[in-house]
Amino acid sequence: MNADIDSQSFLRFIVDRVNVGVVVLNKEMEVLLWNNFMELNSGYSSDDMIGKNLFESFSDLPKKWLEKKIKSVFILKNFAFTGWEQRSYLFRFKHNRPVTGNIDYMRQNCTFLPIMNDAGEVQAVCITVFDVTDTSIYQTKLKEAMGRLEEMSIRDGLTGIYNRRHLENQLASEFDRVRRYGGILSIILFDLDHFKNINDTYGHLAGDEVLKSISSRLEAVLRNSDIAGRYGGEEFTVILPNTDAEGAAILAERLRKEVEESEIIYDGQKIPVTISVGVTLLSDNIENHEMLLNQADTALYYCKENGRNQVKLFDKTMTLI
Ligand code: GH3
Ligand code: MG
Ligand code: MG
Repeated sequence: MNADIDSQSFLRFIVDRVNVGVVVLNKEMEVLLWNNFMELNSGYSSDDMIGKNLFESFSDLPKKWLEKKIKSVFILKNFAFTGWEQRSYLFRFKHNRPVTGNIDYMRQNCTFLPIMNDAGEVQAVCITVFDVTDTSIYQTKLKEAMGRLEEMSIRDGLTGIYNRRHLENQLASEFDRVRRYGGILSIILFDLDHFKNINDTYGHLAGDEVLKSISSRLEAVLRNSDIAGRYGGEEFTVILPNTDAEGAAILAERLRKEVEESEIIYDGQKIPVTISVGVTLLSDNIENHEMLLNQADTALYYCKENGRNQVKLFDKTMTLI
């Protein structure tokens, strides 16, 4: 190093050029150093701040918390840290990112470093303020995207209601819950009658509209605790926790009627739709959730055999297919 350069101003030059806030405080919370980053972002110059109590100039700082944090560095002589994920920011600074990031103030990671003398006593605490607004924007966006992906992975693309995979998972966990803790569980499986004819008569797009319309009607008839979804092409399942066979059959009949009486209009034409509904209650001899679905399917098959547009509750005299 050139001996002409005074090391004090050399260090000051660096402290002012780094893109990090640097503040040094004594035990009385008076400012000993206030670098260029802090000047630019706070609007207070180093001259304004030196010798001033930090909290007098920044009344919006979390005084109680921050004082405790700084004092603990004086006492314990340890480094401390606070990240934007726990506390979004320490100093309320504007940021220059586009508003699309949806972030109000500069996000900050802050460190608290003890500055010790030769005797090992802490003379001052140095606070560094890192601008992590970009990281927080990316991370928030990533979290949102992951949330959307997760939601998409359990939804059916056409109707927006739960898909088969989610229904199977939910049914499996409901089954386990009842087996472990007791309780009751019923399910409904329904299928649109002569749906192929609807497609053939009104067109495939009309068929899609029918599926969407039935799906939205489902939500209106069911209770919050019921879990409904599209099980297959034109087949739907409803999981009914804490519902006995009678309750499930009543709900199934309400559903059947709702569909029969629905006014589904496509391209100016009313499309008549009916459903066949199989209902079953979880009994002791059922070993897994697939068996429960099979029973509902058997009851559904009986509806189809007996003229469609009806509800059947499974009973043992029905032979399994
Ligand atoms: P059934 O009363 O015995 O159930 O007769 P069905 O005509 O409803 O039964 P089938 O299984 O013969 O036909 C089901 C039809 O559903 C055939 C298929 O093209 C149609 N389908 C399945 N998924 C979709 C879909 O996403 N959109 C449309 N428009 N049609 C679909
Ligand atoms: Mg059908
Ligand atoms: Mg079918």
